[in-house]
Amino acid sequence: MAIFGSLSDRLTESLKNLRTKGKLSASDVDGTVREIRRALLEADVSLDVVKKFTAAVRERALSDDVNRALNPAQQVVQIVNEELIEILGGQQRRLEFAKTPPTIIMLAGLQGAGKTTLAGKLAKWLRKDGHTPMLVAADLQRPNAVTQLQVVGEQAGVTVFAPEPGNGVGDPVKVAKNAVDEARRRQFDTVIIDTAGRLGVDAELMKQAADIRKATNPDEVLFVIDAMIGQDAVATAKAFQDGVDFTGVVLSKLDGDARGGAALSVASVTGRPIMFASTGEGLDDFEPFHPDRMASRILD
Ligand code: GDP
Repeated sequence: MAIFGSLSDRLTESLKNLRTKGKLSASDVDGTVREIRRALLEADVSLDVVKKFTAAVRERALSDDVNRALNPAQQVVQIVNEELIEILGGQQRRLEFAKTPPTIIMLAGLQGAGKTTLAGKLAKWLRKDGHTPMLVAADLQRPNAVTQLQVVGEQAGVTVFAPEPGNGVGDPVKVAKNAVDEARRRQFDTVIIDTAGRLGVDAELMKQAADIRKATNPDEVLFVIDAMIGQDAVATAKAFQDGVDFTGVVLSKLDGDARGGAALSVASVTGRPIMFASTGEGLDDFEPFHPDRMASRILD
């Protein structure tokens, strides 16, 4: 993502003047903070998050609590690194598994966000880890969504529950509910429910997702967001938080040439952790998200 280059270049540039000095002055700090601010805004990080971030960096850099063992430039880098980890969610957050299987994971997000692909990635990853996932096609809006999930399921080597007579054709809430019953009966230990997405946030979509949530009582609701989405990311995430609520975020298309800052704002704005990153179209292009590793990559 372009955010990496931009932030680290600007930071390196502004830190050049600091390297030899003994103590951080207010003007040194302000100069650096200005560069960080510019880099984050250029990368589409939302203004509120930028303000929060730069205020925290400034306050810490000017406090007496800085690490005196480091030179001023290193001090700033350390503070920026720690604050980046903070806006990225702090600790890595792992999937919560139900005490009594099956663990139910519901996916939500706009159309094209990467939900169906993620369903396959997650299933394959869980399977490698010894789980027995079942995929559920509860996206009945897009004509070929069910087929797409079946293809992905085949690639991942997992069972796909698709609507057919008796399974609640046309009614995604019934499909999801029946799927969970079936998973219980057939002793699958995880159920991944793919839901419909529209091009924009709409009330009917939200209600459908909320109804599926209510009917299946998932352990995790993952909000999948395209890292390329730009400034709409924050509004979209808030709409999904209000409409369905979610327990974690998945950033998809991190392999793209996106100014991924807006998507990075999502964790900070919603208070929900980024749990996974999707980095390509293949089923293995997927990894748990580590805030500390991401921060190091940004500052590399
Ligand atoms: P859905 O509508 O949310 O189910 O989205 P899909 O899973 O159908 O994905 C939409 C398009 O994005 C497809 O062409 C996927 O192959 C592609 N896609 C999904 N995830 C990624 C990713 O991480 N990187 C890239 N480059 N493409 C992705």
